[in-house]
Amino acid sequence: MTATHPDAGLVQRRHLVTELPGPRSRELSARCDATVSAGVHVALPVFIAAAGGGVLLDVDGNSLIDLGSGIAVTSVGNAAPAVVSAVRAQVERFTHTCFMVTPYEPYLAVCEELARLTPGEHEKRSALFSSGAEAVENAVKVARHVTGRAAVVVFDHAYHGRTNLTMALTAKVMPYKHRFGPFAPEVYRVPFSYPFRDPAGMSGEQAAARALSVIEAQVGAGNLACVVIEPIQGEGGFIVPAPGFLPAIARWCAERGVLLVADEIQTGFCRTGDWFACDHEKVVPDLVTTAKGIAGGLPLAGLTGRAHLMDAVHAGGLGGTYGGNPVACAAALAGIATMREHDLLGAARRIEATAWPTLTALAARCPAVGQVRGRGAMLALELIDPATAAPDPGLTAQVVHACHHAGVVVLTCGTDANVIRLLPPLVIPPDLLAEGLDVLTQAIITATA
Ligand SMILES: *Cc1c(COP(=O)(O)O)cnc(C)c1O
Repeated sequence: MTATHPDAGLVQRRHLVTELPGPRSRELSARCDATVSAGVHVALPVFIAAAGGGVLLDVDGNSLIDLGSGIAVTSVGNAAPAVVSAVRAQVERFTHTCFMVTPYEPYLAVCEELARLTPGEHEKRSALFSSGAEAVENAVKVARHVTGRAAVVVFDHAYHGRTNLTMALTAKVMPYKHRFGPFAPEVYRVPFSYPFRDPAGMSGEQAAARALSVIEAQVGAGNLACVVIEPIQGEGGFIVPAPGFLPAIARWCAERGVLLVADEIQTGFCRTGDWFACDHEKVVPDLVTTAKGIAGGLPLAGLTGRAHLMDAVHAGGLGGTYGGNPVACAAALAGIATMREHDLLGAARRIEATAWPTLTALAARCPAVGQVRGRGAMLALELIDPATAAPDPGLTAQVVHACHHAGVVVLTCGTDANVIRLLPPLVIPPDLLAEGLDVLTQAIITATA
């Protein structure tokens, strides 16, 4: 361990001094309603004043346990000391030049880290952007440009963003797509591997064959630029495909000149106990998108791919005013250094080792917990009606509400909104994680009693 502490100096405890939301948060919520679009939904209207390690401190003085990391973003902790000092130093030097106008070194250093850390030993090039959706869009642009083909294949339950092209790639209509079309054409959706819902015993290879037969019948490899895939699905329900699924899709793509785009925006940067989720089965994608956990909370996204693909694009074809902002790059470099120095790969694996027995014991005791799944510090519970195995979004909402009011921030996901996902900061103290899991366990037991 280095001299820096990952908790930014906040007391690491759950401590409630008002009901949640407290009076000051309720005042701010009223202001929010009068000024922020109702289209921007807030899961828990508790306004935050400070955060660090595994806690969120609200404006009423309540201290909440954070099991969401702002949707898998603050993996190194909120206001992580190394990130704060790197950001401060960079802000004092300069805040923006636009890399496309006059460049700067931190952008290069982030691209060098991406080349080192993303799967595969081949020569790589990267481009940086400001949001995950932008990285995914640019992956499709590169794939279409180099292949000269238009079609893009995505999967059931996929989530790739909210821009026009990425809405087309995203599966779930409500709330992401409803009345926002028309959507970009030439996007085709095929079944993912969903072990909990697939026919019993279906292997990863069989699930891949099911998807590939749809592609061959309805798209044709010769028309297909790329397959865009989350190696573990995020928003769609933390669905871990059966072993062999990802490698079989990758093999099919490689044999046909179809590019494999791994969307590692949620799974990347130590979250699953590897640098990237593709590493688990040694799959090497042609293009990889990154964002979320990359920069300790600052907005940064990356597209990294084989050099001959990324360099095939004409000069000026990729970019954006803010892409690879120097402050965000400084944050990413400090964040990645923190991941190495504090062994956050090991931390993610230890979180799994702590949480898995608790969650599986809960599932054994409580038939409404249909499945425990995930990897590393990306874990989930699928809640069902035990009689029919049908998704139970009502129970899910009730459990999440109970956790929130007890001061534990958990998130939901899933096409049917019946999955509780756990994405703790990788620096969460073990006793705080255990306490958060206790609250969740009690909430589920009470709700199903
Ligand atoms: C969050 C997410 C995106 C979109 O990222 P934004 O920064 O919100 O645009 C894309 N893909 C996956 C897998 C994600 O989890």
